[in-house]
Amino acid sequence: PSLSRFLVVFAVSGGGLVAYSEANIQTSPKIDELPEPGNDKKKVVVLGTGWAGTSFLKNLKNPSYDVQVISPRNYFAFTPLLPSVTVGTVEARSVVEPIRNIVKKKNVNVNYWEAECYRIDAKSKKIYCRSSQDDKEEFVVDYDYLVVAMGARVNTFNTPGVEENCHYLKEVEDAQKIRRKVIDCFEKASLPNLSDDEKRRVLQFVVVGGGPTGVEFAAELHDFVSEDLVKLYPSVKDLVKITLLEATDHILNMFDKRITTFAEEKFHRDGIDLKTGEMVTKVSEKEISTKVIKTGEVSTIPYGMAVWSTGIATRPVIMDFMKQIGQANRRVLATDEWLRVEGTNSIYALGDCATINQRKVMEDISAIFEKADKDKSGTLTVKEFQEALDDICDRYPQFKSALSQVDSQMKNLPATAQVAAQQGSYLADCFNRMEDCTKSPEGPLRFRESGRHRFRPFRYKHLGQFAPLGGEQTAAQLPGDWVSIGHSSQWLWYSVYASKQVSWRTRSLVVSDWMRRFIFGRDSSQI
Ligand code: FAD
Repeated sequence: PSLSRFLVVFAVSGGGLVAYSEANIQTSPKIDELPEPGNDKKKVVVLGTGWAGTSFLKNLKNPSYDVQVISPRNYFAFTPLLPSVTVGTVEARSVVEPIRNIVKKKNVNVNYWEAECYRIDAKSKKIYCRSSQDDKEEFVVDYDYLVVAMGARVNTFNTPGVEENCHYLKEVEDAQKIRRKVIDCFEKASLPNLSDDEKRRVLQFVVVGGGPTGVEFAAELHDFVSEDLVKLYPSVKDLVKITLLEATDHILNMFDKRITTFAEEKFHRDGIDLKTGEMVTKVSEKEISTKVIKTGEVSTIPYGMAVWSTGIATRPVIMDFMKQIGQANRRVLATDEWLRVEGTNSIYALGDCATINQRKVMEDISAIFEKADKDKSGTLTVKEFQEALDDICDRYPQFKSALSQVDSQMKNLPATAQVAAQQGSYLADCFNRMEDCTKSPEGPLRFRESGRHRFRPFRYKHLGQFAPLGGEQTAAQLPGDWVSIGHSSQWLWYSVYASKQVSWRTRSLVVSDWMRRFIFGRDSSQI
């Protein structure tokens, strides 16, 4: 057999990285086949260059790690602006930053490999990867610490025809495809040989999912059509229809009721057809079948373009990993409050690919009571007991008022960039102080063992959320349930999103795109 069928395509000095052919991967290479790392630094492997992974890398400052980053995407994407990319309010290149730019640190050794991880072997501490290049070369990387930040995939709920016929809005490429398709629909409807019915079908845009992404996309599309396309396609402008389908009774469920009501009324005024309480049962090439949940009434909507935005699900590689570590019965990878994957000791998971197991808190509470009960002798003082409870109440304010109903009150953290970024920076801080904290632990008391946890647990700080509604109006829900809706919030949105950009380069590109749009409108070229 040719050499290339076998071993070693390349070895990267000091990184412990070796490339294997497919044949070798399947027979699982032995550890001693891998070269020894060239130094004694702890190897940290980071999977993913999204919000969580990038925040971890940006905040990691301790030079005692050898860091390897693996992701099929060699850039970070500012996802909150993807709906703006779909209609050209902002250009795709303005919302991305090469990961190599972000990680070129002076004191931490970081290497990036453009590849996807297809298997995590927790037992032998190895990551199996496939390069994103055409040859799909495979290689294995070993680690001391693994940071899983792979995000999630789109959830189609196994609805027939979605994968084949709908657009997603998850990645930059999705936004670019949607932009081309919208213009495509307008050009197609303007052709001379189409019947009016066919033109109407082609210009029927359906958005499935009334969460923040679906709502923002519908609003952006409405603005694009009413501000720019009506001037360029006057003959078909009256045939355009935007429909938003939502299975529950209201859109923007996670927001304050005032925002939901305002958004629904605004969409009615704008002529966006809002269908709530309806779920999609099937999508064919030209029609979407729906069912009214309460009555069971079925109907079909002929469409030209459909965007599916109904939430996220766990990636297959993570599901496979969950089976290995005894989490097969869960839907999402569970970590403890220190972001360590349950059932492992050196793997951390953050962002959309994992959830903190809140049930653990219940166990901790009962452990406190058990310990207090056993220690009637007084080993656990009332003060310690109170401290422990206070600590849990501090982390989970909802417990304060209703310790008896904790179960129903336990909520998972939302799958947002805000949570992912805070988790990334928390974990980097733990890694930065790993040695110090191991020597002098600073976290809360352990109830099942003696001593303290090394670090303080992760605490999420909610800074508020936005829902842009089009027409230069945004709804903002800030901490303390302070709600603001309208043009002033739109300016707050502009300032926050400009300030949150990952670099000065993207910041200036985004701001200049907004100014270009104000002056010249959006570009509708088909490129
Ligand atoms: P991601 O950012 O999705 O990153 C995952 C990374 O893993 C990517 O780099 C990917 O290439 C990589 N990866 C995937 N598979 C593999 C593999 N097999 N091996 C290695 N690497 C892999 N949140 C907000 O807070 N505010 C908003 O306004 C907001 N708007 C949004 C708008 C849109 C259109 C979308 C899609 C999301 C929005 N979100 C928003 C949610 C936010 O983007 C996510 O919660 C956030 O991206 C999660 O970060 P993450 O790092 O977990 O995953």
